[in-house]
This record gives sequence, C-alpha cells and structure tokens, in this order.
Amino acid sequence: MAKRDYYEVLGVPRNASQEEIKRAFRRLARQYHPDVNPGNKEAEEKFKEIQEAYEVLSDPEKRARYDRLGHAAFEPGAGAGGGFGERVYTWSTGPTEDFSEIFSDFDLGDLLGGFPFGARTTGRGRRLRRGRDLRTEVTVPFLTAAKGGTVQLRVRRQVRCDRCGGSGAAPGSRWQTCQVCGGSGRRRGPLGLATVCEECGGEGRRPGEMCPACAGQGTVEKLDTIEVRIPPGIDDGTELRLRGQGEAVPGGTPGDLYVTVRVAPHPYFRREGNNVVLRLPLSIVEATLGARVDVPTIDGMATLRIPPGTSSHQRLRMRGKGIVDPKSGVRGDQLVEIQIVTPRDLSPHARELLEQLDREVRYNPREKAPWT
Ligand SMILES: [Zn+2]
Ligand SMILES: [Zn+2]
Repeated sequence: MAKRDYYEVLGVPRNASQEEIKRAFRRLARQYHPDVNPGNKEAEEKFKEIQEAYEVLSDPEKRARYDRLGHAAFEPGAGAGGGFGERVYTWSTGPTEDFSEIFSDFDLGDLLGGFPFGARTTGRGRRLRRGRDLRTEVTVPFLTAAKGGTVQLRVRRQVRCDRCGGSGAAPGSRWQTCQVCGGSGRRRGPLGLATVCEECGGEGRRPGEMCPACAGQGTVEKLDTIEVRIPPGIDDGTELRLRGQGEAVPGGTPGDLYVTVRVAPHPYFRREGNNVVLRLPLSIVEATLGARVDVPTIDGMATLRIPPGTSSHQRLRMRGKGIVDPKSGVRGDQLVEIQIVTPRDLSPHARELLEQLDREVRYNPREKAPWT
C-alpha cells in the first residue's frame, strides 16, 4: 500500500508552522481516536496514519529529513540518526496498547473532551500498559430500566494475582534481565517502529522463579460479581462503559468493561419512546358513561378518569407518568389504550334491557366507517 504524504494526511500546506501542524493533529486525533470510535477499524487505521504523520512533522529534524527524502527517510537502514525507533510508539488493540508518548505535548483529557487515554506515563519513558477491554450483556427488569437501579453482573476476567501482587515472581525470587530485549523493554517491529517487548511486557526484566499461582503472568482469571448502576430511562441496546472494570494487566491500568443493556419485557407495560403504554379493559357501561378507574403506573397505582363516550383503541394520556429521557431529563407520559370488553352469557332480563337500550339510543356505529 502506498503511503500517503504526511502533509496531506494532516491536511496542512508544506510550509505550515509547527502551531498549524499541532492544531491540525489535535483536531484529527479528536475525531479519529479509538476511544471515540470503539471497534471502528477504519478510524483506527486513520488514527495510526495521523499519529505517524504528526510524529514526523512535529519534530523539526525529522521534518527536514522528510522534506528532503520523503518516506524513504525512515525506511529501515536509511542511514545514521534514523527516524523511528528512538521513541517508543506502538499500536495494538492488545494489552500493550500504548500511545501515550506522542501525546505528551497535549492535555489528554482536553484533547478528547472527557475521554482520557487508557495509557498514561508515570514519568520519563516509564509507561503503564492497559488491560484489555471486555464486552458483555446484561438483562434488566423493565422497571429497573425505567426508573434506574442496580443489577448484579457476573463477569469472568483477568484480575491481579494476590499471591505475587501482580509481579509474576514467586515470593523471594530474584529478578533477571530479559533475554529477548536485553533489558530495554522494547523491540523493533515492522517499519522500524519500536514496540513493547512481549516477553517481559516492557519491564526489561523477568522473575527468576515464576509465581506458582499465576505462572508468572501476574494476573489470574476470576469470575467476579459486580454491581452495575442502571441510570433511569435506559433503553434496550444502550451500551454502558464501566471504566477500569475490564481486564487487569501487570504493572498497568485495567481496561474498561462495556455492558450492553437488554431490557426484559414487562407483563403489562410497554415502552414507546419515553412513553409507557398500558392496555386497559373497560366495560361498555364504563366506556359509555365515563368512570374513575385505578390503573397501574411505573410509580404505583393512580386514578384515571375515563370521559363518557370513550371507544376502543382510544388512547388516554396520563401526563408525566412515563419514562425520564436520559438526555433531556424530560419525563414522558403513560398512554392508556382502551379495550372495551363485551359481556357474555346474558340473562334474559339483561338481554331485554339491552334491546330496550338499543331502541332508546338509536345510533349507527358504522356511520363514519370509510365505506359508508
Ligand atoms: Zn502470581
Ligand atoms: Zn523484554
């Protein structure tokens, strides 16, 4: 695949100032950052490209080399004082996700408008790794979703090993320099980019004797029960992000847990947007003469006035008895759908009374039917 021109990637002219380059990068990084586009491969690729372009153009020395030689300037073996590899700059969706260094110029929270990065540096060159994000689903009762509450969630995940405190070393074991990276914690990957050493996880050293509980991994698998707060008004399919509830990683911060909420159906309430729909059976007399009927709402029983002359399928509105919109905070209504239930097995006297009523009332229910 042909590499795009770095200036083109950032959308700046060749004579752009450092400030312009920085501004363009900020804008694009905010747009394409994987935290903002979870699971979007295209955005991820784009983000990598932006990151790489900025890596070069933000450094006056590298930029000068690039202006002179183009992409060839950073090909492996492109002469002394090479481009990449001096700074650790890795990309992966695995546990070694680390894109902290390149952002050291920026206030990260500000860059992503409230999306802090998983990986953070703890000082010069020492960086934290980030555990894997996990995804799961939870089914919540209708009323919990409507009014908010908590549900228990079982999640199987990697947690820090208690035996070794996450170091992976057997108690009392000595440490040895990592054979693979020679203690630097870094390895050179494709395109000459440095990556975190897989063998020691960037530590640069390995325990002489592995912790028997976790086999040196520093983490063990555990089935945990966690309590999830369900915000009121949440709808089926909403994804919640539980920060730091994903998988642990030795010497790093845990990933996040994404929970897709499924709302269980209710025996008699139904949701339509932020309204709750309830079907209410009425007798012919209640529907004809009007009545006051006790009906359930998500807050408990309430009295509904049925106006005289109510028909089947008509919807009566109970204002503010619906579901709170999680965004606007505005509460929906309860819509009561009328269903007239006709009596059966009439006594001869009742039948006579109804026939008498029919003669008295004299109305044609099909008067407004579309075919008349
Ligand atoms: Zn252990
Ligand atoms: Zn190593």
